[in-house]
Amino acid sequence: MFFSWWRNRRRSNLLAEPFPDAWQAVLDDGVGHYQLLNEADQKKLRDAVVIMLSEKDWEGCRGLELTDEIRVTIAALAAVLIIGLEDFYFDNVQTVLIYPDEYVVQQERPIEGGVVLEEESDRLGEAHYRGPVIVSWQEIRENARQPGSGTNLVFHEFAHQLDMLNGEPDGTPDLPTDELAQRWTVIMDKEFRRLQKAEQRGQHTVLDPYGANDTAEFFAVSVECFFDSPRIMQRTYPDLYQLFCDYFRQDPASWPVFEPEGY
Ligand SMILES: [Zn+2]
Repeated sequence: MFFSWWRNRRRSNLLAEPFPDAWQAVLDDGVGHYQLLNEADQKKLRDAVVIMLSEKDWEGCRGLELTDEIRVTIAALAAVLIIGLEDFYFDNVQTVLIYPDEYVVQQERPIEGGVVLEEESDRLGEAHYRGPVIVSWQEIRENARQPGSGTNLVFHEFAHQLDMLNGEPDGTPDLPTDELAQRWTVIMDKEFRRLQKAEQRGQHTVLDPYGANDTAEFFAVSVECFFDSPRIMQRTYPDLYQLFCDYFRQDPASWPVFEPEGY
């Protein structure tokens, strides 16, 4: 209780300061989603950027020198997800690690006969339970400048963090009402199976086929699509789209059109 009182006081002091011009320039020039929001939501996004830049540890990896552009862009994209959520700033994420581009990790893969293969895997990002978010700047910079591709690395990794607020990632975040929780189970299950079937038949849908791997990835790729290709998602996955409108308390299909021609 004392902690939250102290934290709220600290946050209101932070928000009483004017938003730095250099950060505003990053939002105006490099974060396409910022232009789509109404004024009230732009203010919420700026507040979230101030809080996240102050409260989280931002670390450049493999020699990447962090700049305002990098920190503000990543925080702003993460903030798009939480604009409708009351007083939540990814408090479960303490550290954001940023690589210049793809990075390689050593991983173990069990195969038959109790053998474990040591492999190298190229990655763009990952999110750890009670741990850091790890992302690559080159990918994010392109996502931020050209919204509408349907993919966005920051949306993906921070969606995993929402999912992990109530335990290991399983595609079901904390839901505020029983009604939403019941609808969530039915719709997510139905749409996950639909994506798996489409994938088995080699059919392309607006959702990244990577989401057919498991329900946690299904949630993360659906969040990417919800905020980055909302109109086509609303047309082709209307139940899922509405479910996310109710959870995020946002309606991205009402934003000015930003998807490329053909959508
Ligand atoms: Zn993922």
